[in-house]
Amino acid sequence: MKQIAEGIFFIPGQDEMIPDSHAYLIGNPDSDDMSLIDAGLMGKGRYKIESIRESGVSLSNIKRIIMTHTHLDHIGCLGELREAIPHAALWIHENEADPLENGDEKIAYGMDMFESMCQAQYNIKPGDFCFPVDRKLTGGETLEIGGITWEVLHIPGHSPGSIALYHPQNKILIPGDTVYADHAIGRFDLHGASGPQLRNSLTMLADLEVNILLPGHNRIMESVPAGYIRQTAEQWGPYLS
Ligand SMILES: [Zn+2]
Ligand SMILES: [Zn+2]
Repeated sequence: MKQIAEGIFFIPGQDEMIPDSHAYLIGNPDSDDMSLIDAGLMGKGRYKIESIRESGVSLSNIKRIIMTHTHLDHIGCLGELREAIPHAALWIHENEADPLENGDEKIAYGMDMFESMCQAQYNIKPGDFCFPVDRKLTGGETLEIGGITWEVLHIPGHSPGSIALYHPQNKILIPGDTVYADHAIGRFDLHGASGPQLRNSLTMLADLEVNILLPGHNRIMESVPAGYIRQTAEQWGPYLS
């Protein structure tokens, strides 16, 4: 686990045949009110928990898990994390919280072919990704987490309930799978995805001043050039109509 800024820690994903999402731990470690952002792929919870423990953070300080969205590479090990941190609440955008609670796994898997492939590969069963959600986010919330203020933005397109967390003081953006380093963006061909929505969401993110970009996969950007997200949005615009 690497400290990125005050109260922001990075736990890199460990990709396999399928990618494992990064996780971020946010909040002041002595605040007793930390949040884990995203979980990861099946089987990728244990090392993340160990990484938190090794850095000296007590699991009892983690009060909630907030999901940027509920694709399999992000919620695959949510069950493992909830076993290790049973007191942690689960916060998800309402557009994906409702299907998740109702056992509708279409968004988690993204496409039918992927569902049967993953169930065979990882020995998972229908219904394994049904979780009660403690708080359904809508976007527009201002969260005070462990002494740090974050804004919640609803950025559909990659998935219907994708959210970003934005820390305005230090200009830090956690955009899930909507925008990455190297001018890459999230795919928009999965169940519930939408190119035009993704274009609008990228345009919304482009209005933010961002110095540090902490995406769901691949490398993080610790000094984002001005206009980076706008350039990325403009580059992809023609493909997103
Ligand atoms: Zn995703
Ligand atoms: Zn992902």
